[in-house]
Amino acid sequence: MLVQAYGQEEFEVNRVHRESRGSFAAELRSARLKGLYAPLISGLEALGLLLVVGLGTWELKNGRLSIGGLLVFVTYLSQVYSPIRRMGRLGNTVASANASAERVIEFLDQRPSIVETANPIAIERADGQIAFDSVQFRYPGAKKRALSDLTFSIRSGETLALVGPSGAGKSTIAKVLLRFYDPEAGRVLLDGHDIRDLSLRSLRDNVAVVLQETLVFDGTVRDNIGYGRRAATEHEIVAAAKAADAHEFVLALPDGYDTVVGQKGRLLSGGQRQRLAIARAMIRDAPILLLDEPTTGLDADSAERILGPLRRLMTGRATIIISHNLLSVREATMILVLEDGRITARGTHAELLAGSETYARLYQRHHHDEAATA
Ligand code: ATP
Repeated sequence: MLVQAYGQEEFEVNRVHRESRGSFAAELRSARLKGLYAPLISGLEALGLLLVVGLGTWELKNGRLSIGGLLVFVTYLSQVYSPIRRMGRLGNTVASANASAERVIEFLDQRPSIVETANPIAIERADGQIAFDSVQFRYPGAKKRALSDLTFSIRSGETLALVGPSGAGKSTIAKVLLRFYDPEAGRVLLDGHDIRDLSLRSLRDNVAVVLQETLVFDGTVRDNIGYGRRAATEHEIVAAAKAADAHEFVLALPDGYDTVVGQKGRLLSGGQRQRLAIARAMIRDAPILLLDEPTTGLDADSAERILGPLRRLMTGRATIIISHNLLSVREATMILVLEDGRITARGTHAELLAGSETYARLYQRHHHDEAATA
């Protein structure tokens, strides 16, 4: 699911192809070597025997060796071949075992980047207070930091919007918050607990995520909404759909809530998929909401239609919204302008419009008309 959430399917498939091609080439090389090696050894054996028989005959002729002696020597010689051959094979086995052992050790050495502490704290329902405290982060193997000295906090009922040019680190903040990665310095706190001290379940169960590219799976509408919480009742599912403005279009589908929506929700429009995702998040009823600008890619009408459900979803929760087109940031309690992994400005919409060149520029690009009259 993570692979899908981050759109890495193609990358993973290519990687498997690449690795299998490499493995096939190595096997082929090994088979070729074996093919070459076996006749070579047999040839050498035959040559040795011929040499001994030749030399023995010579010695026999000169009277220095009896025929019985020669026969005994040849018999013993043939008995020596087999253990020598076995020793050769043993060498092969040792070499390949060595290579395998290296792989095993490499594998054992690879610690998953995220590990729970020995006695993780479990919290049932968080209040939703999040704080980033001087967080630094670098992707494994990357030269540049993706996040530098990041400090901010947010409480229940507040909305924090993250804006900034592409590659500024907005999605990375979400990944660090969900603990897909740990910071290299600094802390992320949930209700005052360092999230590294919490069980992963406590952390992730308290967050509902609505992504740009909504995950709708091949099942019924009911399954798709109920996915937010397995134990949801029919009544709760319908209530969530109503709150997400999804009830009407669901009833208009051929089988209502039992309609199978097809792979990736093919039967639904982008806006409908998003409303389904909002219903799913409603059912999940987590105190923290992570929204990756759910209006991206929708036309103005569809985007407008999901703003109402979104607002209802955000009420009473701590919301972090990653904003790409700045549609939903005007009402945010606090907006952070990110550039190169750093916060370069913070404030409300009005404050930033007056005080941050980057924000004003980003905003103007997306809202020409409104900016002119602002
Ligand atoms: P966008 O608006 O385009 O989604 P963003 O602000 O969300 O951009 P991030 O995806 O957080 O930006 O990326 C921040 C930086 O980290 C970029 O320089 C990016 O190249 C780098 N980055 C992102 N993901 C990885 C990764 N898995 N491995 C290495 N570097 C990464």
